[in-house]
Amino acid sequence: MSQFALRPTRICHACGKLIDAEAVVCTGCGVMQPAARALDTDKKVLPAFLLAMILGPFGAHRFYVGKNGTGLLQLLTLGGLGLWTLYDIVMIVTGNFRDKDGEKLTEWT
Ligand SMILES: [Zn+2]
Repeated sequence: MSQFALRPTRICHACGKLIDAEAVVCTGCGVMQPAARALDTDKKVLPAFLLAMILGPFGAHRFYVGKNGTGLLQLLTLGGLGLWTLYDIVMIVTGNFRDKDGEKLTEWT
């Protein structure tokens, strides 16, 4: 395995070549790449917290951050009979709740 393979990569939107995720210009065709995905999530703690408090057993806070799979699972189990929702609320208020991309929600508003 080359060292290159260990780095995050993405596909050039113009020619489809595999390039470094942080590349500004494609090494294959020279086309400028769209700005790299922002590292921070645009989801906020406060809406997630309120959704978890009010509609937590229905997985609303998980749908909010794009975790539709586990959101549906919470909906079907009523938030793991409340325990899973309670755990999520603790994670949310301590800044450890993550969105679907694995980014932590740290900003309240
Ligand atoms: Zn290219």
